[in-house]
Amino acid sequence: MENGVRVEGKTIEQWKSEYPLLSELMATAEVFWTNPRLTPVAEAEMTVTAEEVQDAEERLRRFAPFIQQAFPETSSASGLIESPLASIPNMQDELARRFGQEIPGRLLLKCDSHLPIAGSIKARGGIYEVLAHAEELAKKHDRLPADGDYSVFATEEYRAFFSQYSIAVGSTGNLGLSIGIISAKLGFRVTVHMSADAKAWKKDLLRAKGVQVVEYQSDYGKAVEEGRKQAEADPQCYFIDDENSKRLFLGYAVAAGRLQKQLEEQQVIVDSEHPLFVYLPCGVGGGPGGVAYGLKLLYGDRVHCFFAEPTHSPCMLLGLMTGYHDKLAVQDFGIDNKTDADGLAVGRPSRFVGKVMEPLLSGVYTVVDGELYRLLRALRDSESVRLEPSALAGMPGPIRLLGQAAGQQYIEQHGLADKMKNATHIVWATGGSMVPAHIQEAYYAKGLECEEQSHS
Ligand SMILES: *Cc1c(COP(=O)(O)O)cnc(C)c1O
Repeated sequence: MENGVRVEGKTIEQWKSEYPLLSELMATAEVFWTNPRLTPVAEAEMTVTAEEVQDAEERLRRFAPFIQQAFPETSSASGLIESPLASIPNMQDELARRFGQEIPGRLLLKCDSHLPIAGSIKARGGIYEVLAHAEELAKKHDRLPADGDYSVFATEEYRAFFSQYSIAVGSTGNLGLSIGIISAKLGFRVTVHMSADAKAWKKDLLRAKGVQVVEYQSDYGKAVEEGRKQAEADPQCYFIDDENSKRLFLGYAVAAGRLQKQLEEQQVIVDSEHPLFVYLPCGVGGGPGGVAYGLKLLYGDRVHCFFAEPTHSPCMLLGLMTGYHDKLAVQDFGIDNKTDADGLAVGRPSRFVGKVMEPLLSGVYTVVDGELYRLLRALRDSESVRLEPSALAGMPGPIRLLGQAAGQQYIEQHGLADKMKNATHIVWATGGSMVPAHIQEAYYAKGLECEEQSHS
């Protein structure tokens, strides 16, 4: 960084002396940060209520007959969009071997990578927000089905009605997929503003479904800004604001209650003697924030949530550590926001999510891209699960917690040392099942390349 540059009124040197970890962030080194503002849930300000999350769950249930009809792949779950919770014991052994660090307790993978319709965590928030908007429009124009059967939303009559309206969103890829697919299915005219890092296959897939895709040469922030601007000019257009949307957040938060059921079905105990640790890849924050918030509402202090970010895009860590949230971008500190983890290539965090999560998040750690590829390969070899690189960011979480001094300190401070043998660790796998086979093979090959580099 040039000398004399000021960010929010302070020189880089001042920032560094105030936050010593910042030097490591700027050097794009891997870090593990625990949140000094973490507060017991009983004392924390819970700005989103359990009733609001419940309301979102009920809305998704109302729409289930529509979803089932429009997306037959959801029929085994009666139109609920949900993913498996899988045990990954071979990967647990593989992690121990690789890092020389045993993981006591149980390691589970929440396979949002295999959510129907959009193949990523965005199938939660994105689809929910479009459905909420569609319901609102239908209500306003007296078109809610009198008998409560929402399968009518799949009819030509409803599609014709929604074709008068449009939806716009800015995205690094996966949110665009999710919003584009559901909006087009309902009949909306939909425009997705894609950042430069969005993958070509995602743009192609959307265009094939009749979605208008606008491409930008710059990053996610710019795509969102342009999308917002164009949507504002059109009163019939609804803009899905990934940086500030409470609806997206609520759609993600519904995951918590669903997970709780799965844990019960698998007889996994979560209580004061059996802590739960959850590791979530973080981009702008809505997905991991919503899920983590829902879990804190249900499990309180028994659940410990950590976000994972690429070393080149640690925006949420920067925002939470300084309390400046969206006032700071990683680029202000010379960090380039260039990462292969496309869902996570975000330079500036959501202020809404940062504020809501400030008292509730246990910590954030960063991962180098090479590690994402190595773990992608290792997971496919050990468990035959195929993910996209972003979705591996949660995987080193337990190793970091158990192996790093700051992690050990967290365990001690929270009286968890003798409970770790009873712990459950959930790695949230956020995307991957829709990646075309030849790209998946290229990821896998890259995993080997990165493996060899790490040994040389
Ligand atoms: C979007 C995304 C995330 C993170 O969600 P945010 O809401 O942007 O924080 C993580 N993983 C994948 C694969 C994603 O597409």
